[in-house]
Amino acid sequence: MVEILLINFLFLLFPVLIYLIFFENKIHIKKRNSFNILFSAISMILCMTFPIRLEMGFIFDLRYIPFIIASLLGGYKIALPLYVILNLYRFYLEGDGVFLSFLYSTIVFIVVPFLHKFFIDYNSKKRLLTAGSITFLLFTIYQLHLSTFLKSISLQFLINAFIMVATYVIGIITIMALIEKIIENQKAREKLVDSDRLNIISELAASISHEIRNPLTVTNGFLQLLRDSKNITEKEQHYINFSLQELKRAEGIVSDFLSLAKPQAENMVNTDLKEEIDYVNNIMIPYAHIHQVDLQCSFTNTLTHYMDKNQIRQCLINLYKNGIEAMKKDGGTLSVLVSEQNGNIVIQIKDTGCGMSEEEIQQIGKPYYSTKKEGTGLGMMVAYSTIHKLNGNIEILSEKGKGTTFVITIPASHKY
Ligand code: ADP
Ligand code: MG
Repeated sequence: MVEILLINFLFLLFPVLIYLIFFENKIHIKKRNSFNILFSAISMILCMTFPIRLEMGFIFDLRYIPFIIASLLGGYKIALPLYVILNLYRFYLEGDGVFLSFLYSTIVFIVVPFLHKFFIDYNSKKRLLTAGSITFLLFTIYQLHLSTFLKSISLQFLINAFIMVATYVIGIITIMALIEKIIENQKAREKLVDSDRLNIISELAASISHEIRNPLTVTNGFLQLLRDSKNITEKEQHYINFSLQELKRAEGIVSDFLSLAKPQAENMVNTDLKEEIDYVNNIMIPYAHIHQVDLQCSFTNTLTHYMDKNQIRQCLINLYKNGIEAMKKDGGTLSVLVSEQNGNIVIQIKDTGCGMSEEEIQQIGKPYYSTKKEGTGLGMMVAYSTIHKLNGNIEILSEKGKGTTFVITIPASHKY
């Protein structure tokens, strides 16, 4: 019996292994795609082909482990094909209990994928716990249901029932733990690549931006002198104005890049952000009003962090600007909320603008990603770089057409 159990366990490990070896860099384990369906289906079929036989003619297999895991991670879209495959194969195998299996798989099919929505937002530990407890519940109910067919409940039945429930719970927690580890590694690798890219860009930025700024300022000055001269035609004046405008844009890009560079010693302050938020509010209010945007701010934070005040200002300005620009069409409200939560400073910047799709959210923060005609795609990159330097984190909640909320979490610190 132990051998069969181990072989069944191998069937469950098989898709995880294949995934790790061949597909880890190509597809996302959490995405709904045909590979995930294929792997789970193969593993289910193998489990059903080699069931575990206990005493008293009690037969069970581990088919529900891949089914439950895939349903939790992928929702109904992945559960439906698996449900069909499971039942078709079960009908093909025949034997007693076809109807019971059909009934039971239907219950699992209805209940488990329903939890997908919540499951996907949980953290790793909570996911393990949820998967473990839902399995425990489902199979305890299954055993209770089985017991109603018996005249009297024997000790052997109890032992068998216990073995089945325990095998399922242990199996699902083990496989889920492996999958969680894979997801964690995937995330860590993506973060590493991102931060590498940021490092290279910020080094380049620091060295070049400074050099470019001086010639820009000089050109700007002379053009202004030229514009005020009396012996130029209106047309020429128009050209000069246009050049000045473009110079201003170039300067904007350069200063975006400069703020990527290392924090400057003279700007370092230990701040609760009150002053910085006030400063940014003051300079952004006119910009908000031009676009019929109402700016609301609430400040309740008392925690502090040691940081470069220019960089955090620039980061906030970028986020405010994006929020306001998202509401350009019909106006709206930009609400800024600064509070503290579990030892973290939390800044929420919420707009009621155009919102973003899942794919757009994925792109945000990548250099030069912009959907705007005049956009540089540097604003969010700078924001990410600043917040990451503070060991903080930016989370984006957005719904297309409804609006976007940026939630920035910065751990409070002492001077370092
Ligand atoms: P830019 O503003 O120059 O386009 P950013 O890096 O600031 O560059 O932003 C990148 C892109 O992210 C924007 O072009 C926009 O599509 C999207 N975006 C950023 N913030 C928001 C927001 N609050 N609402 C909707 N889309 C946003
Ligand atoms: Mg922007």
